Amino acid sequence: MESKNSLQKRLSLAEYQEGILAGNKVIVAKAITLVESSLPEDAALAEQLIEDLLPHTGNSLRLGITGVPGVGKSTFIETFGKYLTAQKKKVAVLAIDPSSTKTKGSILGDKTRMEELAKDPFAFIRPTATGQALGGVANRTREAMLLCEAAGFEIIIIETVGVGQSETLVRSMVDFFLLLMLAGAGDELQGIKKGIMEMADGIVITKADGENLRKATQAQADFQYALHLFQLPESGIAPNVLTSSAFEKKGIAETWKMIEDYKKFTNQNNFFQTNRNQQNLKWFDESFNHAWKTMLSSNNDFQKEKKELEKKILENKITPIQAAKSLLKKSILFASPKN
Ligand code: GDP
Repeated sequence: MESKNSLQKRLSLAEYQEGILAGNKVIVAKAITLVESSLPEDAALAEQLIEDLLPHTGNSLRLGITGVPGVGKSTFIETFGKYLTAQKKKVAVLAIDPSSTKTKGSILGDKTRMEELAKDPFAFIRPTATGQALGGVANRTREAMLLCEAAGFEIIIIETVGVGQSETLVRSMVDFFLLLMLAGAGDELQGIKKGIMEMADGIVITKADGENLRKATQAQADFQYALHLFQLPESGIAPNVLTSSAFEKKGIAETWKMIEDYKKFTNQNNFFQTNRNQQNLKWFDESFNHAWKTMLSSNNDFQKEKKELEKKILENKITPIQAAKSLLKKSILFASPKN
């Protein structure tokens, strides 16, 4: 369905390029659809487009924002985004929602989300790469990010639901990773949240207004103390904890200042660039793994061999490790001709 759509709306390479470089949001959206398409002819065009646009990328601040459903991500991003666009900064919001693979719903399916920001001429909002395996999501999201950069967006926000692996993925493609948290939602310092907290470059406690204000301020102190016990991150800058109310537009300017300070600091100690370099190596790695897997999964000999080995494993004729080694050896043979 999606592929058919992109086939109908496909433009020429030059049309995509010119539109994107002119900052045309409709063309940017079409180009993202193109990179998400699974049609081989779309893939070739998308690849060429990305390659040609590469010299125009890299100039944005890449910001990841995560938090559990209901923490106030979309409300925060809308207020935060409006704060930035009011300063004539161009903001793109890309949302990843791996859970939509199951629910078929999108993170931005609810039309009321970020309504104001969506209408803003300085903003661009787009769900990306939903309904794909996480490995594919990473590449597609990176490509969507590059397209937005080529279109002149200065701040790219990648939003993800903090419920699984997707935050590790987002962490690996942004300059600053912001974690939104709620005050008083159970024992926040335990379990998976500690892992996510360790990835954060900054934390904002949301909904710090009305009756919740006191609890939010207390949580800020608790989290700041907890972070203080963590090792100093590679960036060399200890994460800060702020409070914010998107409703009352409080803590928004402070959040932006925290991010700008981080950028300044990591530019000076070179971490900003080192981090991007490392992310590029990871991208290379992931792209290779993804391409290798895609190539093999469409190879009939490989599929046949794999099925046979699976059968042997179930019949206890071979151990899974032996089977894997055998499949690897054959994979190299399957991969070499004509590919
Ligand atoms: P998301 O699921 O993380 O995107 O969260 P939403 O932005 O949809 O917000 C979840 C709920 O929290 C909604 O009912 C919002 O109205 C509410 N909410 C969001 N921001 C604030 C805030 O700053 N203050 C208060 N009191 N409620 C908020």
